[in-house]
Amino acid sequence: MIGIIAAMNVEMESLRSHIENPESEVISGIRFVRGILDGKEVVTAVCGIGKVFAALCAQTMILHYQPSSIINTGVAGTLTDELGIGSVAVSTAVVQHDMDTSPLGDPVGLISGINKIEIPADRLLSGRMAACAKVMGLKTLSGVIASGDQFVASAERKAYITEKFGAIACEMEGAAIGQVCFVNKVPFCVLRAISDSADGSSHMDYPTFVQMAAQQSVSLLRRFLNA
Ligand code: SAH
Repeated sequence: MIGIIAAMNVEMESLRSHIENPESEVISGIRFVRGILDGKEVVTAVCGIGKVFAALCAQTMILHYQPSSIINTGVAGTLTDELGIGSVAVSTAVVQHDMDTSPLGDPVGLISGINKIEIPADRLLSGRMAACAKVMGLKTLSGVIASGDQFVASAERKAYITEKFGAIACEMEGAAIGQVCFVNKVPFCVLRAISDSADGSSHMDYPTFVQMAAQQSVSLLRRFLNA
């Protein structure tokens, strides 16, 4: 069974509408819908915004459904000119850009306990996802995806995340799901279509493009499941 997590309804509803024989249950306030999607057994969840909800959802999904892998799909802000609105970022690794114990001498972004800054995504999953995007003719870039509990909307914060982590896209859930998957030894991948520029104009981009970008990530995910 493949686990699929999105933060918001807009990123999940059109995917869910294609699930055959859906079975639904609510655990810890999150609705999990399982069934057959494009010939594959899946369990889906809308986790809510931010790292805490994302972690809660991923851990609950792992304990209750034992997915063989988890894919986090949705939208993100771009951190590079190579990824415009509507194009797709695929994770090679994830980082938490707001994790910072550097006053104690740690490098910025270090996740103490697992002693990592970058949590590697599953190579096979990420590679297959990027390959599907190319086949679909989508503009795609693979690289580090940065998560934090903030909507990135300034040139300064964008530059900080790019410089410190070499990340290509920013969002609010992927690295929390990545951390939970890492600890539980579940392969994961983050797939994000770009909804905004993550700078001074992102508050205008986002409402304009979130729907279109969400649909883009759903289309790619369905192609991936069909392959
Ligand atoms: N109150 C709003 C909050 C949306 S936050 C709501 O509930 O709909 C934006 C979402 O899109 C997050 O899930 C995040 O993962 C993603 N996202 C898109 N652009 C982003 C950006 N520039 N910075 C951070 N997250 C972004």
